[in-house]
Amino acid sequence: MEGRAIRLQGLRKSFGDTTAVAGVDLEIRDGEFFSMLGPSGSGKTTVLRLVAGFETPDRGRIELAGQDVTGLAPFERDVHTVFQDYALFPHMTVEQNVAYGLKVRRVPKAERLVRARKALAEVGLEGYGPRRPAQLSGGQRQRVALARALVGRPRVLLLDEPLGALDLKLRERMQVELKAIQREVGITFVFVTHDQEEALTMSDRIAVLDRGRIAQVGTPAEIYERPATPFVASFVGTSNLLEGEAAHRITGSPGTYNIRPEKIRVLKDAAEPDEPEHTTATGTVAEVVYLGDATRFLVDLDGGGRLTALQQNLETSSADVAAYRGTRVRLQWHHRHAVRLPS
Ligand code: ATP
Repeated sequence: MEGRAIRLQGLRKSFGDTTAVAGVDLEIRDGEFFSMLGPSGSGKTTVLRLVAGFETPDRGRIELAGQDVTGLAPFERDVHTVFQDYALFPHMTVEQNVAYGLKVRRVPKAERLVRARKALAEVGLEGYGPRRPAQLSGGQRQRVALARALVGRPRVLLLDEPLGALDLKLRERMQVELKAIQREVGITFVFVTHDQEEALTMSDRIAVLDRGRIAQVGTPAEIYERPATPFVASFVGTSNLLEGEAAHRITGSPGTYNIRPEKIRVLKDAAEPDEPEHTTATGTVAEVVYLGDATRFLVDLDGGGRLTALQQNLETSSADVAAYRGTRVRLQWHHRHAVRLPS
């Protein structure tokens, strides 16, 4: 079907007693940067391996571009997988590594070279063709693996924690680059990660996995601002879960609400008036952490429970945060920021 790259229906997979994928239904659009996000063991890699054809589902159906591929071998599917360890051939040059898949498919040599160079240019590695993998940095090796995936122009690229081996700075840079490359080439990317910030930064849409099931599918903003379950609220960002009136003084309708830390204002002066359309709570600062750009407050509420509030450091005096520990504060948030979780 036009516009749909992947469709998964009722997908299940167990290994012995372990249910890795417990019934997954999902549609991924053509040209999307789609992430599968979840904690270790939630089934992300297994879903990816089922799509690639490295595993066979116990039940369910896998479609690629409208075609049922459930029973097809990996090489019969128009997908390419990039693994975390890159799996480059050490004895081959960068150019040979990139061109390898074309050679297997008997693409003529001259064309192989042209396409390998183009793919290397796409990932910012012009001129690196003659080197061997050992002569490259981790980030460059990652890009070679990506060029090798791009060169065959698959309809779908599957990426399993491809940035996991990189240090934080490089990882952040590659996140931006990978997203730019994806936009440029227009191939559907399915990206597996356990890192919520990475998923939020890069994705058009995200599926959050919880114990082999999809807890929510949505844009980064939908996932963050309107989490569908307490699990999503706490796994993506920091959650502050409160019940009924404690969260939303006006409606106070029963249910669980989530308020994000950056939406909560910490007021030190007890004399400051309550703002209209805000809910207020009082408590004692249990812990305060200076983060450079912001300060995190953990506040024990008088009514029981603990909230995390994040304040931007607008004043240089914010560096002196230890003085807040043990002090009384009022917390305030606008009603619209108390988001009721669907029950
Ligand atoms: P991680 O982030 O740690 O890679 P994940 O979300 O990708 O985790 P999976 O690798 O899909 O999770 O694993 C899901 C569950 O299935 C886990 O409990 C895992 O131990 C189990 N599992 C996965 N592959 C196999 C296998 N080949 N044999 C037995 N159990 C497996």
